[in-house]
Amino acid sequence: MNIASLSQELNISVTELRRRMSEAGFRISARARKVDNVLAREILDKLKPKPKITGPATSAVKTITIPSVISVRDFAVSLGLPASAVIKSLITNGVMASLNEQIDYDAAAVVAHELGFIAEQAREGASGAETVADVLARQNSENLKPRPPIVAVMGHVDHGKTKLLDTIRSTNVIDTEAGAITQHIGAYRVLYKEKWITFLDTPGHEAFAAMRARGANVTDIIILVVAADDGVKQQTLEVINRAKLTKTPMIVAVNKIDKAEANPELVKKQLAEAGVAPEEWGGNTIFVPISAKQNLGVDKLLDMILLTAEVAEFKADPSGEIVGTVIESRLSKTQGPTASVIIQSGTLAVGSIVSVGAGYGRVRILHDEHRRNLKTAGPSTPVRISGLSEVPGVGDLLRVYPDLRTAEAVARQALLSRKAKHLAAKSGIAADVENQQLNLIIKADMQGSLEAITQELNKLENKDVKIKIISAGVGDINESDVLNAESAHANIVGFHNNVSPAAARLVKQKKVNIAVYDIIYELTEEVTQAILKMVLPEVEILVVGRAKILAVFMTEKNETIVGGVVTEGEIARDRKVAIERGEGKIGEGKIEELQHNKLPIPKVKKGEEFGVKISTKAKLAKGDYIAVLEERIKEKKLKTVST
Ligand code: GDP
Repeated sequence: MNIASLSQELNISVTELRRRMSEAGFRISARARKVDNVLAREILDKLKPKPKITGPATSAVKTITIPSVISVRDFAVSLGLPASAVIKSLITNGVMASLNEQIDYDAAAVVAHELGFIAEQAREGASGAETVADVLARQNSENLKPRPPIVAVMGHVDHGKTKLLDTIRSTNVIDTEAGAITQHIGAYRVLYKEKWITFLDTPGHEAFAAMRARGANVTDIIILVVAADDGVKQQTLEVINRAKLTKTPMIVAVNKIDKAEANPELVKKQLAEAGVAPEEWGGNTIFVPISAKQNLGVDKLLDMILLTAEVAEFKADPSGEIVGTVIESRLSKTQGPTASVIIQSGTLAVGSIVSVGAGYGRVRILHDEHRRNLKTAGPSTPVRISGLSEVPGVGDLLRVYPDLRTAEAVARQALLSRKAKHLAAKSGIAADVENQQLNLIIKADMQGSLEAITQELNKLENKDVKIKIISAGVGDINESDVLNAESAHANIVGFHNNVSPAAARLVKQKKVNIAVYDIIYELTEEVTQAILKMVLPEVEILVVGRAKILAVFMTEKNETIVGGVVTEGEIARDRKVAIERGEGKIGEGKIEELQHNKLPIPKVKKGEEFGVKISTKAKLAKGDYIAVLEERIKEKKLKTVST
């Protein structure tokens, strides 16, 4: 078991774990990152808080922690049951997996439930392997150097996050960069009072949701933006919870104070009720009143960021082991798979051999938010890298290896986990070809994700197929979602959540379509594919050849034999033709027989003479043309609704 998983199991930091282990007399090297399972059990027994017995008898149901991917064999071992029982239960739930195959959390959870356990998902790194925390815990404390804080601006929709990020960026570019092209790479740096600050500017909560789901965290400080004219809202509370959960320092920016309706005092009161009290009220949260629009108080906010960073002493080893986290990724037309990565330790250089999630390769280009090519990138630097074999996912780790073969093996393992056997219930999005309407029931982990998803789906509005969102809600996919989907003929679309075991069983029974995603891009891609399937095919008729009639040999009621020369393209047997005279068309027909030099031939090309028998009612004459037609099914495209 690795040290990081142990620390998670005990809900304490790795440093705290090391301290407690040594207090409890376990002699574990400060550099060790794994302990064997027997030792892990002993450590857990010793350090785990003993449950208080409150009632007469504690429940006999055992809780089992399951990683996002596990082999059937390991799963059976952790349940303490024979593998045959696990395989049998998997089969009855629609998953055909053998002993050595990997299954995903959902499939395992359903089986665990069926076999009388309570399933709990383990928090872990992207590939179920090492996490950033593992790597950082190995850093040599003597080499640690201060690094810029990484700041995330969060808050309810329309409270001014984008405006604030724009204001900070535009008022703090240093002279040499003024007018430089800025490029969205998911984060940018500013130099303020001679100190660097890195701001994440990923749209919506997608990146955060993805990272949270993978137990990755790159944020050092959260700026919670609350509009003074709107007050505390659903997403404000989500951010507060997130900050608490991840123990991330938070600064409150009370925005829009320029507005006449602004009521900053009310915001303070509401936040205090939510457990976030300002210093002046005896709390310990810094509040800064600002107007992102008029650039008021933004300097003060930056001062407070520097102050918080100074107190927290964020450090990393620029010469140490290299690790970074993906904050955005995409497939570039010119550069292939690319990923924006925040380096968290070490210094990445062009030419380094890396694995990033399921992708690997030699870093070809490293560029910053001004499109400048960098040679190296140290701690807290956001960079876009190209040279990867696959597009990685948000929250995936970047690691460096001495050779391509090792990097490839690591990436392949990540790809395998991505392809682990899912519950058969996760069927993907089905196209309802008969209705030209795609019904969706959306469930996501957070309100913020839901908004980002609906926004993206709105962009898919088109003339042919209607997307109808039957309902959208926050939480795991449950039985009532399945029943609703059944009655509304809808697909269930999940984002960063789980399918409850009972719902999974119902899905199978009711044959409801369900798909769960980690990346919004993948979600919209699959919805687009489903829509395209529903778009009726359009046939276009092309002229692929033309010939001039030079002589008419025979004309009957439904048939004619003529001779001619090909003037463009080619003439082929069995093709449909249009008969043209002057500018007009006088009839249609089909080529029955074709001859060249008195021999039957399948086709003749431009410049060649031929004889042809055409079935047609038209009466051809010398000087007419026959145009050879081909029906082609047009490539399906989404016809966007013009505004
Ligand atoms: P986001 O959804 O949190 O990113 O919010 P935006 O930055 O898009 O801001 C939402 C709206 O509020 C926009 O119309 C902004 O121009 C406006 N806004 C943002 N900050 C301020 C501010 O300080 N004062 C005023 N009056 N309007 C603001």
